[in-house]
Amino acid sequence: MFNKKFAISHSLTMTMIDGKVATTVSKNCSMAVCFICGAKPTEMNNLDAVILRTNSAEALKFGISPLHARIKFMECILHLGYNKSFKAWRTNKDTKEQKEAVKTEMKKNFKLVLGLKVDVVKQGMGTTNDGNVSRRFFEHPEITADITGVNVDLIHRFKIILNTINSSKNIDVGKFHTYCMDTAKLYVELYGWYYMPITVHKVLIHGSKMVSEAILPIGMLSEEAQEAMNKEYRNCRLFHSRKNSRISTNEDVMHYLQISSDPYINSFRMRNKLKKLEYHDDVKKLLIE
Ligand SMILES: [Zn+2]
Repeated sequence: MFNKKFAISHSLTMTMIDGKVATTVSKNCSMAVCFICGAKPTEMNNLDAVILRTNSAEALKFGISPLHARIKFMECILHLGYNKSFKAWRTNKDTKEQKEAVKTEMKKNFKLVLGLKVDVVKQGMGTTNDGNVSRRFFEHPEITADITGVNVDLIHRFKIILNTINSSKNIDVGKFHTYCMDTAKLYVELYGWYYMPITVHKVLIHGSKMVSEAILPIGMLSEEAQEAMNKEYRNCRLFHSRKNSRISTNEDVMHYLQISSDPYINSFRMRNKLKKLEYHDDVKKLLIE
């Protein structure tokens, strides 16, 4: 039995990359252009033309970044809410004040009703729009629709799609495709004046293809592992590295990360028991049992 030989080969698939990296790797010139089909913002809402575009086979393998998708979908709903009174993608000097007033009111209501700090700029760290905020944003579509004034059916559909791609289960590609296309049609019908944001376009139009290209259920290929390291990285840079030069800091960080990812050392870690998630019935319909 010990004479057996095993040959193992590795293949690297870039599924944890975000939009910025994907744009660069796929040699696209602009972040505003879809890195799969090359559609510009002004072309996004012309669904008939968009589905006929040729897709980059390489870019379809990049993974769907389900965590970032949640945040971008939330920001899309927020912007529809901010701009709904003047129905335009851009603001000009006449509508700017109007938008700011709605924005302040909406942020106040989110804090009051759901205790959520939405779209608040954090010094040097982007905004408060993170995974947890966006998860709670979509938890109760009726409340979110009430505060934002955006169609409740659209918010519910966004929630179902996001929970499906985050589920780590096998997705029924055909059903998922139909659900996404119906959602895209609803979006254009209701909010044709607001160009579909690139991430929403990516998931609704290319999502089902990306799911079928993935070697594992798409939710397993998420950027979660990488994002989870941010906290660990910060801790190790602060407490376990020399601060006399950037080179020694980085060297110590690399050593620390190598130690902590060692399989033997890692086996001492306390395992968190994962909570069993209950999925919405609409999500279950899109999954393969
Ligand atoms: Zn596209």
